Amino acid sequence: MAVLTDIDGTLSPIVPTPDMSEVSEELRDLLRRLSERYLLVAGISGRKTEDAFDLIGLEEVVYFGNHGFEILREGEVEVIPEALPYLEKIQELERLAKGELAPEGALIEEKGITASIHYRNAPREVGERSVEFVKREGERLGLRITVGRGVVEARPPIKADKGTAVRTLVEEYHPERAMFIGDDTTDLDAFRELEKLREEGALREVLRVGVASDEGPPEIETEADIVVDGVDGVGEVLRALLGED
Ligand SMILES: [Mg+2]
Repeated sequence: MAVLTDIDGTLSPIVPTPDMSEVSEELRDLLRRLSERYLLVAGISGRKTEDAFDLIGLEEVVYFGNHGFEILREGEVEVIPEALPYLEKIQELERLAKGELAPEGALIEEKGITASIHYRNAPREVGERSVEFVKREGERLGLRITVGRGVVEARPPIKADKGTAVRTLVEEYHPERAMFIGDDTTDLDAFRELEKLREEGALREVLRVGVASDEGPPEIETEADIVVDGVDGVGEVLRALLGED
């Protein structure tokens, strides 16, 4: 069986800023022991892959991060094969942005297979120029460009989310059963992909564990097989997997 889990809001309580997040020593110990007993324990997160690793801090766990584009195991980051041809394009865009936008005050964040150009702290016209430049050059390079709050991002034009991450892990590790624990909208992709994998016969059994919270979407409870209350409830599930009360 594969134990697949979201991190923020599932293994660590939601806190005012992401850098305050923490996984408790107790949960870390449960995850360590689970990884000895089960085929696979993986943390699947929207965060940068290295941040996901820093939060859980266990080499035994596999990490899927960076919008579903990267896997980290035994200290090595691998980009999913479908996205790999775009690595050079991302680097090319970063190089261009460093030459063109960084001198004006934009911040180029090199995230490996994705890139973020931040302009929140730069003058407004720098923001406008950044968006225009990244859209033009990114599209020329065949990348997908999205504009957020104070940031323009480039990524490979490939579908990658927690659902594709779950599929990749199932196809690679071949568990008979898989579970996913999550609390938020992006986790629903994982729930739905598990169900698809079961219908296809790739998995014999699946278990979707919804973590109830005030801010989470209602589907986390309606689409789950079981619902637990917050991070403490997740701890109970992990202990049950180890046969402990
Ligand atoms: Mg979460």
